[in-house]
Amino acid sequence: MSACFTLRSATEPGALRQLIYVVEDDEGVARLVMRALEEFGHPVAWFRDGKSVLRRLQTERPDLCVVDLGLPDIDGIELIRQIGAVTNCGILILTGRSHTIDRVMGLELGADDYVVKPFEPRELVARVRSILRRRGAAGQASAASQRRYASFIGWTLDCAANILRAPDGTEHVIGTAETQVLRAFVERPHQILTREQLLSQRDLSPMDRSIDVRISRIRRKIEADPQIPKIIKTVYGAGYMFTATVTWS
Ligand code: CA
Repeated sequence: MSACFTLRSATEPGALRQLIYVVEDDEGVARLVMRALEEFGHPVAWFRDGKSVLRRLQTERPDLCVVDLGLPDIDGIELIRQIGAVTNCGILILTGRSHTIDRVMGLELGADDYVVKPFEPRELVARVRSILRRRGAAGQASAASQRRYASFIGWTLDCAANILRAPDGTEHVIGTAETQVLRAFVERPHQILTREQLLSQRDLSPMDRSIDVRISRIRRKIEADPQIPKIIKTVYGAGYMFTATVTWS
């Protein structure tokens, strides 16, 4: 038997739309899992065996696979290994076995979590959503760390090389501390940032006036008149605000 059908449910407002594969030969269990996931707005595809899910993975990438360890055609652990070889989607192991060795092996092979049968459908959904959240946060963090060039009104900050390029093309090499402050600004323009938010973890105290010194230095470079700053404004009693629009590349 191969893949049966794909169910797509109506989206509730704000629902996640991450695609989830359920690999489970027991139809009753599969339906229970799918119904629970669909209640939360997840599109779900059901596969009765390993062969059919591996075939589908050639043309589609799910966000997460729920994998039963006891499948008719392939050992679940081996399937997890093969899924991991073609995609880095989340993996939740579903197992009726009580052997600890299976769970340990599954987790070592890259599964994110496991649920032992019998299970509460809501418990399974909670595990699935927790995995998706963790992976989503990790993905955003790595996307943010890959952002390198921040451009604002003709200036470009190269966050990786500590270089600030002026609108006329002149390049200024700036210190790590200044780069870090400027980066904090360009990552959150149009927001009031407190001294604490602008300080790095290495800095000793938010009372430290070094933050003001760094901002003065940055202003001397980028402001037309550092005495009347228009890009980095002081918000009295609160902190500072970066007022330019920033684009990243
Ligand atoms: Ca089974």
